[in-house]
Amino acid sequence: MNKNIAVIRGDGIGPEIVNQALLVLDKVADIYGHKFEYTDVDMGGCAIDKHGDPLPQSELEKCLASDSVLLGAVGGDKWNNVPGDKRPEKGLLRLRSGMGVYSNNRPAKIWKQLASASPLRDSIVAKGIDFIIVRELIGGIYFGEHKTEGDTATDILAYSEKEIERIGRIGFETARKRGKRLCSVEKSNVLDSSRLWKKVMHRLAEEYPDVELSDMLVDNCAMQIVKNPAQFDVIVTENMFGDILSDEASMITGSIGMIPSSSLGATSCGLYEPIHGSAPDIAGQDIANPIGTILSAAMMLRFSFDMEKEAQAIENAVSAVLDAGYRTADIMPQADDEAAGCTRVGCAEMGRQIIEKLA
Ligand code: NAD
Repeated sequence: MNKNIAVIRGDGIGPEIVNQALLVLDKVADIYGHKFEYTDVDMGGCAIDKHGDPLPQSELEKCLASDSVLLGAVGGDKWNNVPGDKRPEKGLLRLRSGMGVYSNNRPAKIWKQLASASPLRDSIVAKGIDFIIVRELIGGIYFGEHKTEGDTATDILAYSEKEIERIGRIGFETARKRGKRLCSVEKSNVLDSSRLWKKVMHRLAEEYPDVELSDMLVDNCAMQIVKNPAQFDVIVTENMFGDILSDEASMITGSIGMIPSSSLGATSCGLYEPIHGSAPDIAGQDIANPIGTILSAAMMLRFSFDMEKEAQAIENAVSAVLDAGYRTADIMPQADDEAAGCTRVGCAEMGRQIIEKLA
């Protein structure tokens, strides 16, 4: 199969981790007889420097013309003082809404090899952590009107029934393919938008009798994720709640560097990115963990290109490398006894090990 992938390396560690993911994709292409062509796209701080705009229309067009988009991360201190509508993150928001990717899917899964990296007690981790957060991505407060007048700032949180319904369906469909339990997270004791959310979810539930729907307030969910994460199968929630809860969920699995994500809309052209940022504190030192980006590439193969066995091969290679004890700094055990048998490697070497296991 021939596929054209738009590649956004971005800022900070972005170029390092994306390079490793592309090498892995090249190896997959070699082994399985595919051809992946890469189109470079400028977005984020590097695009501000080059074009004076975090995502010029011409760069967005390249993404829209591609079969899917692989993104590293954008942003950094250098661009902290540029005006709000020119910030690197604005490029990302424009990309998501330009592509119409309304559903962000983030797995929170603990790799057995990294169980000791979780900050949770062993007894909680032992029950297993393996759930997915389905987050609405192009609505809600991040896309409402923002304004500051005098000493008052306002941000509008609005959702239409249609927006809730389409993300709700993704939640139900995702749960249907897994453990058939969907937890809808909102703040219906306070917010009108959440009361509408809850109403639409319950209406949809009638179409999915095989999926058990439960409701949870977002503040309780934040507690339950650390108290008893094993209770969750699929969580569906709005944009801002999903942003915060998925970062929390990533931490209990050990490292933010391990977690991939996919964002999809009405077509198979998706946006795939690790959940972390551009980590300027470790950029250019060859110590970043490329696994979140490599697993994002695997998700691209699975969800956008229908290449299940290729995706599985990448995930198996990652697991084999962890079994063999290779660890980037962020997942290296802190205690000497746990670190025995582990080898600390850099970003490029981690990529090389994964490619070797693939082969
Ligand atoms: P961050 O995720 O970049 O870093 C948080 C911490 O995690 C840092 O200590 C970092 O070194 C570590 N870390 C992150 N990814 C890692 C990896 N792959 N391997 C090892 N360690 C890793 O979050 P931040 O520091 O709050 O943000 C830095 C910049 O990234 C900001 O400009 C922010 O706006 C931007 N950001 C971008 C995205 C995105 O592009 N999707 C997401 C979040 C933050």
